[in-house]
Amino acid sequence: MVNSSKISINKELFKSSIVLSCAIILIFGILLSTILYYSELANAQALVRQRNQTDSCFIDGYFTKIHNAVEFLSSNTQIRNAIAFDQADNTEILTLYKSLQLSDPDINYVYSGYNNGSLLINDYTPPAGFNSVVRPWYKAAMAAQPDISDGIPYQDIIDKQWLVSISRVLTATNGTINGVVAIDSSIDTVANILKKQDGRYKSSHSFAAKIDGEIIIHHDKNHLSHTVTSRFNTNIDLNQPEGKFTVSFNGVDKLAYYTRIDKIGWVIVTMVDKKEIIQPIINKIVLTISAIVGVAILLGWVLSANLSKRIVTPLEELKQRVGDILADNRGNGSTYIYPNNEIGAIAADIEQLADNELHDKNLKLQNINQELELLSTTDQLTSLFNRRKMDMELEKELARSQRYQLTFSLIMFDIDRFKNINDSYGHQAGDKVLEEVATLTHATLRSTDIVSRWGGDEFLILCPETTLNGAKALAENLHAAIGNNNFALDTNVTISVGGCEFCGQKDVEEMLKQVDKKLYAAKQQGRNLVVV
Ligand code: GH3
Ligand code: MG
Repeated sequence: MVNSSKISINKELFKSSIVLSCAIILIFGILLSTILYYSELANAQALVRQRNQTDSCFIDGYFTKIHNAVEFLSSNTQIRNAIAFDQADNTEILTLYKSLQLSDPDINYVYSGYNNGSLLINDYTPPAGFNSVVRPWYKAAMAAQPDISDGIPYQDIIDKQWLVSISRVLTATNGTINGVVAIDSSIDTVANILKKQDGRYKSSHSFAAKIDGEIIIHHDKNHLSHTVTSRFNTNIDLNQPEGKFTVSFNGVDKLAYYTRIDKIGWVIVTMVDKKEIIQPIINKIVLTISAIVGVAILLGWVLSANLSKRIVTPLEELKQRVGDILADNRGNGSTYIYPNNEIGAIAADIEQLADNELHDKNLKLQNINQELELLSTTDQLTSLFNRRKMDMELEKELARSQRYQLTFSLIMFDIDRFKNINDSYGHQAGDKVLEEVATLTHATLRSTDIVSRWGGDEFLILCPETTLNGAKALAENLHAAIGNNNFALDTNVTISVGGCEFCGQKDVEEMLKQVDKKLYAAKQQGRNLVVV
């Protein structure tokens, strides 16, 4: 027999739902986390790259117009030859410079310097000993000629502000170089635009470098004049149209995108702290996995609750019912309604089996009762009624007789000298004689007569609705049948018979006394007689 406390379907279901939940968490957790991580990372990278391109476009546009202005000025004959004129003759040029300055807020200064050291400029008084030829913008234009110089950052001598200069040599008609024209714009203006936050990533910022890596515009002045490779300890080659690289600066990992602006020979680099990109992704993954855990637990719970309701509860009811039936405590059956499935069918079958068994039991009990009834009313040796049964029959007949004034008779007979038969032929032979006497008696009597073994070798016959004459005839028939029967012994078996007629008034005891008296009389008169 299975110990029910050891294995419980509820526990099994609980285990299964935990396994299911874990599987869902594992499979969907890993899958969704991976998808989320890579898609979010790609999104973030696209955002940084987009910012880089936006900033590059801005710088491109910003300097293209300055470039164009420098080009325009360098082709102006008056400006090219201004060295040959007096300062007074150059008011026209200065007016042009001024109008350019005023027309564009991005432009700080428009000026030209000549190889004699002079400078044509508005609202600026060069310090004593100023010499245009040694200034960085002049040298840059000389180095880049005949092209326009790349933007070069430099610090103004007087107000110390950082400027970017774009310059070009001024060539006289005969081909000699007279000087350089330049336009300065403030680095701070550009740097502020490049450093502005983009809303999504606080650490996101852009800066400008030359193709050789020299950082020329950066909101953090400490970076200026260093190269990208030395500052960020990377060997990235910026001489590509665009690209991506990662660096670690002061222990912070950074992701960078760059775009080359060919017109001014700059590279715009956009950097963002990797942590700022990764952290929100990790937060999202944690949130997603938490949601999956929640859903998995809910699913597992719903499943196990559902199965418990549909399977476990009916099974527990069934177990209880079978236990009751086994303990013979069937009652009226449970009020529980089984589901219309296999469990319901099994429950019905069990009820049927229990009913069948009960029916069999009742049948057996009936048979046993019948047997007991027979045993309690029958004499075992002769199969005739015993004394107990005869007593009941006598009471019945007496009652009948009293009520309907019916006449009936009793006949009592006893085997003569039966002890001698036992002694001479043995007890078994005596038994045989008793059996044969019973058979003969039964055969001689009418079917309505009732015969019993009254005790030992004594028999009592009740003859309903029989007068003394009838009883006498019957007694004599019986006496003759037994006396003439061949008992296979070398001696005859005879009986002494007594008989009486009764009607109504007597009680059983009295009747028995009377009939016994008649039998006694027969014995007294020498046996083998009928006395009625
Ligand atoms: P009587 O003519 O006076 O009746 O003489 P009897 O020898 O028959 O004497 P009694 O009726 O008093 O004795 C009955 C004997 O029957 C006594 C007993 O040993 C014997 N007996 C009683 N029941 C049985 C039985 O079931 N089987 C056998 N074999 N003998 C029985
Ligand atoms: Mg006798």
